[in-house]
Amino acid sequence: MDIELQKVSYSYAKGTPFEKAALFGVDLMIESGKYHAIIGHTGSGKSTVLQHLNALLKPSEGIVKIGDEMIEAGKKNKKLRQVRQHIGIVFQFPEHQLFEETVLKDIAFGPMNFGVSEEEAYARAHEVIKTVGLDDSILQKSPFDLSGGQMRRVAIAGVLAMKPDVIVLDEPTAGLDPRGRHNIMELFSKLQKDHNLTMILVTHSMEDAARYADDLTIMHDGKSVLRGMPREIFKDVDKLAQYRLKVPHVVAFQMRLEQRLGSKLAKLCLTEED
Ligand code: ADP
Repeated sequence: MDIELQKVSYSYAKGTPFEKAALFGVDLMIESGKYHAIIGHTGSGKSTVLQHLNALLKPSEGIVKIGDEMIEAGKKNKKLRQVRQHIGIVFQFPEHQLFEETVLKDIAFGPMNFGVSEEEAYARAHEVIKTVGLDDSILQKSPFDLSGGQMRRVAIAGVLAMKPDVIVLDEPTAGLDPRGRHNIMELFSKLQKDHNLTMILVTHSMEDAARYADDLTIMHDGKSVLRGMPREIFKDVDKLAQYRLKVPHVVAFQMRLEQRLGSKLAKLCLTEED
């Protein structure tokens, strides 16, 4: 399912003395089955864009297209609930949203809320718990007896149980150590490839964007200012500096290595610890 923003502007608290313009004519094209990263400094508008991707926010001006559905300023769309089913959002610290007595009930909650039978929802829980690399014996435990890493995986399983076509990741590695961060990012990468999902990573990590994304959109001061493949975008160090983004040493090093050796050999030379 393609997602497109066409000249989207958005103001918080519109029409009140607290009105705050956050997006100015943003264009964004996310192609089905691709891994797309949206990067930008703090306050550049990433979270506001994210909330348009499943119509949590509606544009003040412009159009959001989610598959065949159009979401436009001032117009009602009766199919929003259906549309949202197809788009799973893994919010920052998703484990904070766990609340049920058991992991099983927690994972089944989303699908059942959308009319899936208990039997089917529980069957999905058994399936997705393995997808996120956990043993299904964990399903009978309380989510609050798990480690932080396990809780995050359970929360991700809850999103997968909805069988989304699109997954939006909001800084999914916040608060994790380097090993945990690597494991979670690899999990999403595998999921995207195995299920041909559309993955949208919202992040300020240039490393993650460089390593995983097929396409990048750079946000700056509420505008989408650059779009392209990571290796093309990261070449223009001066332009990125204007947007308060700095290409990390490891990425610059990898790009130089790739230029000399070609991408396959360069990958072999670089390990995670680099
Ligand atoms: P990012 O996710 O890149 O840090 P945001 O989308 O959160 O950026 O913020 C974009 C702009 O919108 C900022 O100027 C921010 O202060 C403002 N903003 C964000 N959320 C709200 C809100 N709930 N009310 C008013 N202004 C907001």
